[in-house]
Amino acid sequence: MMWFEELAREIKEKKKDRPIRFFVSTMVTPSGPIHLGNLKEVMIGHLVAMALKKAGCEVSFNFFADNYDYLRRCYPFLPASYQRYVGISLSEVPDPEGCHKSYDQHFLQPFLKALSILEIRPQIHYMDQLYKSGVYAPLIKKALESREQIAQIISRISGRTLPKDWSPFMPRCRRCQKISTTTVKEVDFQHNTVFYQCQCGDKGESDFAKGEGKLVWRVHWPAGWKIFGVDVEGFGKDLGTRGGAYDTAKVIVKEVFQGEPPFPIPYEWVYLKGQGKMAGSTGIGLIPLEVLEVLPPQILTYFYQRTRPNRHHEFDLQKTVLELWDEFGGLSGIPVRHLLMTIQSHHSFDSTLDSLKRTGYEQVVKEKEEQIKEEIPYLRKWLEKYAPNELRFQVQKTLPQVRLTDNQKKFLSNFLKTVVEKKMTSGEEMHRELHSLKKQLQIPPQEAFSAIYRIFLGQDYGPQAGWFLAGLDRRFLVRRLQEAVEKL
Ligand SMILES: [Zn+2]
Ligand SMILES: [Zn+2]
Repeated sequence: MMWFEELAREIKEKKKDRPIRFFVSTMVTPSGPIHLGNLKEVMIGHLVAMALKKAGCEVSFNFFADNYDYLRRCYPFLPASYQRYVGISLSEVPDPEGCHKSYDQHFLQPFLKALSILEIRPQIHYMDQLYKSGVYAPLIKKALESREQIAQIISRISGRTLPKDWSPFMPRCRRCQKISTTTVKEVDFQHNTVFYQCQCGDKGESDFAKGEGKLVWRVHWPAGWKIFGVDVEGFGKDLGTRGGAYDTAKVIVKEVFQGEPPFPIPYEWVYLKGQGKMAGSTGIGLIPLEVLEVLPPQILTYFYQRTRPNRHHEFDLQKTVLELWDEFGGLSGIPVRHLLMTIQSHHSFDSTLDSLKRTGYEQVVKEKEEQIKEEIPYLRKWLEKYAPNELRFQVQKTLPQVRLTDNQKKFLSNFLKTVVEKKMTSGEEMHRELHSLKKQLQIPPQEAFSAIYRIFLGQDYGPQAGWFLAGLDRRFLVRRLQEAVEKL
């Protein structure tokens, strides 16, 4: 049983009410590039939701874009001029590159596109719209009424001392638009109005029923649980520490909002190999859309399926891509290095298929031609953008002007003779022949094989020689060997 099936079973067993209906929630703050770590949160929700459905439950699967949160600081990937937007809600900050209507959309749109490629289809909610349409208003009111009780809960559980004038609500300043710089002075509960003073000098009022401000994170989170009746939610491990946001939210939702906390699925980070934790605020990370150029969606999904949420993930665009491909079996089952070799040796699809047939994959070609066709564009893109040099080559159309030692010439002419005389065609046979010739002529392996790579690729290294040669068009193979023996 996979981890998400185990979790689904545990979640289902805990639920007492009938019919068994679940609200699965995921949330991302679009403060920067939305990377593979954010995708982990959504993927956990997706996999558990699917498993619950499969177990016969009614499931609502949701994605909340926390775009009403404010810009925390001028991140390294932003122009210095963005300093002036710090404190303003992400949905009201301009797009740093000017291609979308606002900052949050710039990062959300590519992510949502990736979700649709991955066939992850949550119901999407935008926090700015929820606040502005008054969905949060009753709980903002409740939180303001319970200000002291909430402050006590947070102080007691987190050990933090809150300032005397602390408020669970951050009104938006009408002059500077910031929500992080205001202090609540007074509340008029009858008219949903908060009187504030802002660091910019402005004094004014904000209507919390119209979304003129936002709850602080520790209160905003449990308020959402109550409003939507959230049953299951994953979150980064920083929120799940002792005294952290989950601990305080759990108590706030029960004691203040009379609701229940969701079944928690805390998860570990996703790391970019050699660089560190993926984080929107540092810009370290890969966005799913760029990974989906070189990995089919099934295999990217598998990246999350194979590891439990509480274990960390590591990714890079070189090794991890190949490792995942082979572990998953690609789409056709042909090993990735063999595919990489074959598609670099052939330009047309038909000759690629012929080559695969000659090199041990006749049955696969017969049964999985469509899948092979689907795999090729991913691998071509990978070769173009990310492949290390040792995996890249180009078959030279004409004999490269290279030098060969006498040993190498002897090696090639002997090989040519056997290939022609024995009508040798398979990769396995050629592989064995090359090794026995090398032994017979007592040539060091490096010297022997570089002869092959030099005359076909114009370089000293290349893929596994026997299969590489068998994969080439036979007439071309024989002609090139002849030319090399005669001319070099
Ligand atoms: Zn944009
Ligand atoms: Zn202000």
